[in-house]
Order: sequence, then structure tokens, then C-alpha cells
Amino acid sequence: SNRTFTMIKPDATAKGHTGAILDQIIKAGFTVKAMKWTKLTKEQAGAFYAVHKERPFYGELVDFMSSGQIVAAILEKDNAVADFRKLIGATNPAQAEEGTIRKKFAASVGENAVHGSDSDENAAIEGSFFFSGLEIF
Ligand code: ATP
Repeated sequence: SNRTFTMIKPDATAKGHTGAILDQIIKAGFTVKAMKWTKLTKEQAGAFYAVHKERPFYGELVDFMSSGQIVAAILEKDNAVADFRKLIGATNPAQAEEGTIRKKFAASVGENAVHGSDSDENAAIEGSFFFSGLEIF
């Protein structure tokens, strides 16, 4: 598919990196097909990350993702999922390549600035979590 889903996470919005991150995403060739600036409740963050329920960091992840504002967006580009994960870099910013969004803007493996879907199937599921069909062009 040619779409992926992203969130700019609470650490990055709080530090004022939203504009710079969106700029890097757009300059990398992604088109924004839908976008909203919002804040998740704990319940919503828990539901979004339900696949990680059994992981030891689940509670920390849910607390963090509901701790502040996020920007959610559906992005379009050829090879969107893989190219976006390349653009954001490794989950742990210490291991992320130079120039990637996480290398530039993330502080730790937990507070890592951005989310990017890991498959076409999850991109569709995650996009539908935030956007109705009417909001996507
Ligand atoms: P994302 O799904 O957000 O793009 P990812 O696919 O790179 O991240 P996952 O292993 O799926 O990484 O983990 C999902 C999210 O959980 C990470 O982005 C990070 O915010 C958090 N996380 C992962 N590992 C840890 C950890 N060891 N400690 C705290 N939080 C973690």
C-alpha cells in the first residue's frame, strides 16, 4: 500500500518540535491525507497500544502517550510504511541513524518523538482509530 500512519508523541509536541518534524516528513516526499492535533485519554492510549499489553513497558507507554498533546496523521507515498520507518530511525534513538527524526528529536526508547506503523495492515487499523472515512481524502 502507499499509506502509513504516524503520531508525533507528547515529548516532541511539548518541546516544540512539531513544525520541524512535519517539515522533515513533507520534504521527504510524504503527502498528508488527514491530520489532527489531539490528546489521548489513558483508556484511548491503552486501546491503541493493546497489542503491547503483555510487554513490560505497557503501563509506562500508556501513561506517556496520554500525558500530553499528540498529532496524528495519515501519510501517502510510494512504499510508505518502509520509507517512513527509515525516515524516523530505530525505536531507540541511541541506535538511530544520523539525520533520522528520532536521532534528532527523541530522548529515549520510551519517549521517542514519533510513531510509524509497522505494516500496511496496521497502518489501516491505526488510521481508522483516529479518522473516519469522511476525514480521509
Ligand atoms: P512505534 O510502534 O511507536 O513506531 P516501534 O515499532 O519502533 O515504535 P515497538 O517495539 O513497537 O517500537 O514499541 C512501541 C513503542 O513502545 C515504542 O515506540 C516506544 O515508545 C515504546 N517502547 C518500546 N520499547 C520500550 C522500552 N523498553 N521501554 C519503554 N518504552 C518502550
